[in-house]
Amino acid sequence: MSDGIVRAAEDVLVIGAGPAGLTAAYYLERAGISYRIVERERIIGSTWANLYPTLRLNTANFVSSLVGMPIPWRGGFYMTGRQFYRYLCEFAERNNFRIDFGVEVLRVAPEAGGWRVETTAGAAWYPCVILATGKFGNPIMPPVPGLDAFTGRLLHARDFHDPADFRGQRVLVVGNGPSGVDIATALAGVAASPVYLAIRSDIVVARRYPFGLPETLWRVLLQPLPERIRKPLQDFICYQSYPGLRKHNLPLAPNRTNRKGTGAPARGPELLRALDAGTLKAVAGLERLESDAAVLMDGTRLQVDAVIMATGYRPVVHFLDMPFETDNDGWPVRDEGQEVAGYPGLYIVGRFYQGFGPLYNMKIEARLAVSQIQRRLANLAQDTSRASSERSLSADSTPAS
Ligand SMILES: Cc1cc2nc3c(=O)[nH]c(=O)nc-3n(C[C@H](O)[C@H](O)[C@H](O)COP(=O)(O)OP(=O)(O)OC[C@H]3O[C@@H](n4cnc5c(N)ncnc54)[C@H](O)[C@@H]3O)c2cc1C
Repeated sequence: MSDGIVRAAEDVLVIGAGPAGLTAAYYLERAGISYRIVERERIIGSTWANLYPTLRLNTANFVSSLVGMPIPWRGGFYMTGRQFYRYLCEFAERNNFRIDFGVEVLRVAPEAGGWRVETTAGAAWYPCVILATGKFGNPIMPPVPGLDAFTGRLLHARDFHDPADFRGQRVLVVGNGPSGVDIATALAGVAASPVYLAIRSDIVVARRYPFGLPETLWRVLLQPLPERIRKPLQDFICYQSYPGLRKHNLPLAPNRTNRKGTGAPARGPELLRALDAGTLKAVAGLERLESDAAVLMDGTRLQVDAVIMATGYRPVVHFLDMPFETDNDGWPVRDEGQEVAGYPGLYIVGRFYQGFGPLYNMKIEARLAVSQIQRRLANLAQDTSRASSERSLSADSTPAS
């Protein structure tokens, strides 16, 4: 290894102490594999620690629970963001994970068949690294003309913490994914009326309890059906049953992967209530900003005090120091399982956001990554013992002088 870098005492470094990193650590513990988590913040689950108070999970409890710790039924099927944060802290406490807080990973590079990792606390070599860095540390700010000219408050959805900060202000929320709709409905009735929600594509209006059952439960129940029957039935049950969509002139999008690109289920009831009350108004997409106004794609000019960009996120992988291909979401492309293509020993957990949602998927991803790590470590151990027995054989066969 180069410049005297030492092998870490542990076999695996997990980067990030969010739900994905903690889930990976849970399975590593169970498999008896030594690991260390490094987290750049001083707390676990930093993404959840400061979310706005009205946030509620959009996946039901029975798919959002962490491994080995079901979410109690009291309080309904959908936890608030704050309840989830407390639950996450309890999960970490109960499992007593090995976490180094306040340590940021600065560089990860392949070296000597493993991984050189440089952090704010020093450098070490690991046979295996798990990326559990999520997406929320890397907000996308699209290059809208006039961003610099705008003199009001301009922020990304990630930095929205409290609707009360916008009391009485004229606000435009840009983007109609879950965050945009959630933030706009949280502001409705608090900020000046109406709050504007700029949409460039369809809003998918999802019900939380279609026909009296949680939306996620319908997905589970319909899962065994063949795709061609399941999909239309699921769309009918979960997305089409609200009255008043046409009245509000909102585009109706029965299919999640619809024509114009948004696949985001939005908070149906809250959205429609706010539209009915006139505290929220869906407007055309944002074209450009001027010093005190937003100009929309249909030419409308809105005077606003604040613009909140709910324009998405990209995975946090800037510290990877090697060439790699990315998938549509910006994650390094994987081989079979969770291993990054062409880079043995590097795994991703917390990548897949479709289906029952990332909190559900990360349990599957973490389990898979850990079983791949187990195999890799066993192979490395075999290679080492083979090399050392070859060395001793050749020493034995060297003729005495
Ligand atoms: C508002 C909101 C609502 C959501 N609602 C749901 C929902 O209802 N259901 C659902 O399934 N999912 C939901 N999600 C999505 C997803 O489940 C969460 O974002 C979840 O926190 C992702 O977990 P993660 O561990 O992959 O990433 P994160 O929770 O973002 O954790 C990543 C961690 O890595 C750390 N980190 C990053 N870079 C470094 C570095 N270089 N060095 C050291 N540490 C680093 C970060 O500080 C962070 O703590 C929601 C997300 C948001 C933001």
